[in-house]
Amino acid sequence: MTRWTRSKMDQRCGLCGRTILVGEPAFEIVLRMVKRPLVRCPQCAWSPTPPDLPARIEQQATTTRMEPVAAVAKRTLRERLVLLLGGKVE
Ligand SMILES: [Zn+2]
Repeated sequence: MTRWTRSKMDQRCGLCGRTILVGEPAFEIVLRMVKRPLVRCPQCAWSPTPPDLPARIEQQATTTRMEPVAAVAKRTLRERLVLLLGGKVE
């Protein structure tokens, strides 16, 4: 199977060795027994780059800031006291 995609990382064309930069069109040759697809640059691919190839989609990892354990412990203790004492904790 072959497909056109946008390069997700800098990688080298498997034929000419040209660096395919992030976001540039890359022609991938997916073989059933090979884990990673073979990559070709637009000059070495045997099919022309499709004009409707979507632009690279920005994907950013979402991270949540962790609270310090002490802050969580204080808060949970406070919540427990509120439950125990019926809502009056200074
Ligand atoms: Zn090439």
